[in-house]
Amino acid sequence: MKITEVLTTILPAGSVFVRVRTNEGLTGIGECSPMNAPVLKAFVDHALAPIVIGEDARDIDRLWHAMFYRTLKLGAQGAQMEAIAGIDIALWDILGKTTNLPISTLLGGRQRDAIPLYASIGGGMNLTIEQMAGQVEQALAEGFTAIKIRMDWRADRQDVDPVKDLAMFARCRDVCGPNVPLSFDVNNGYSVPTAIQQGRKMEALGLFHYEEPVAPHDYAGLAQVADALDVSVSAGEHEYTRWQFRDLVQQARVDIVQPDVVKCGGISEMRRIAVLAETFNKLFVPHQTQPTIGTAANLHVCATLVNGSRPQEFTRRRPELDDLFTQPLVFANGAMRVPNGPGLGLILDEAKLEALAVAA
Ligand code: CA
Repeated sequence: MKITEVLTTILPAGSVFVRVRTNEGLTGIGECSPMNAPVLKAFVDHALAPIVIGEDARDIDRLWHAMFYRTLKLGAQGAQMEAIAGIDIALWDILGKTTNLPISTLLGGRQRDAIPLYASIGGGMNLTIEQMAGQVEQALAEGFTAIKIRMDWRADRQDVDPVKDLAMFARCRDVCGPNVPLSFDVNNGYSVPTAIQQGRKMEALGLFHYEEPVAPHDYAGLAQVADALDVSVSAGEHEYTRWQFRDLVQQARVDIVQPDVVKCGGISEMRRIAVLAETFNKLFVPHQTQPTIGTAANLHVCATLVNGSRPQEFTRRRPELDDLFTQPLVFANGAMRVPNGPGLGLILDEAKLEALAVAA
C-alpha cells in the first residue's frame, strides 16, 4: 500500500490537519500542533512528504525513524516533532482503516472505554479572581469532575503577581468543594523560591497537581521544587522526544509526565514515552489542546495504558471543527468515550474541510 499524496490544510485558529492518501483509495487523517500553522505546513510539505511518498503506509515505525533522522538538523524540539505528529497519526489511522480496527486495538487493547477529562481553564493572569471562579462554576455545570486553572505567565514574566495567583486558587478551591480535584498551572512563571512557597501554601489548601512551576529548561530548578513539595509536580508539554522525557524524569524529577500527541511526534513516540513513564513509575497525564483529531489520538493511546487512569486535559470544544466530522467525539458524565470505528474512529467530510480551509 503506497503513499501517493500528503495534503496539509490550515484551519481557523491555526489548526493544521494532515491527510495522507494511498494507492488503495484509503485516506488517513492526522493533526500537527497549532503553534505556527504556516511553518508546520511548510515542514510537512517540503521536509516530510518527500520522505514518505512512494513508501508503504503500513511501515509506521520505519517511516517515523526515517522522518526523524533525515530531518534531525531542522530541530528535534518544536516544529520537527510537531510536523512528524501529523503524518504519524494519519498512518495509524490508515492502518486502522485497512484492518478495520480501532487504533486502541492495534496498540494492544483497551484498559478503559471512556476517559475522564478535567476542564483546563486558561488566561488566569488576565482574569479577575471572580472571572476565573465563574469559569470554574461553568465547567462544573457542564459535568466536569476535575478542574485545572492556568495562569499562562510564561518564563519571561517571572513572579509577577503570586499573591493574586494564590487568592485565585483559594477562591476556586472553594468553588470546587471538597470532592473535585483542582490543579494549578503556573505556565513557567515562578522563580524556584516562589514556586516552592506558593506550592506549600496551595498544598495546604488541597492541590491536586502543580504544573510547570518554573522555566521549562530549568531541570535543576524543577527538581528543587519537586523535591521540596509533597504534591505531584508535572511538566512535559515543552518536551518532544523519548530522550527529552528521560532527562525530564531523571534530572527534573517530576512526578507526572505530560507529552502532547500533536507535539511529541504522534502516537508512535507518545507510546514510547508512556513506556518510559511506566518504567520509572511516573504518572502519565498528557497535555492536550486540540479538540478533534488530537483528542481522538490521545484517547486511543490513554485507553491502552495501565498508567493512564488520571483525568485527561480538555481545553475546549470547537463546534466549527466538530462539524467537519460525521460523528463528533462524545462527552458525557465528565468523560469522553474512546471511538469504536476503524482507525481514529473519526469520519472527516473532506468537502467541509476544504470549505473551512484558510490560505497559508
Ligand atoms: Ca500546561
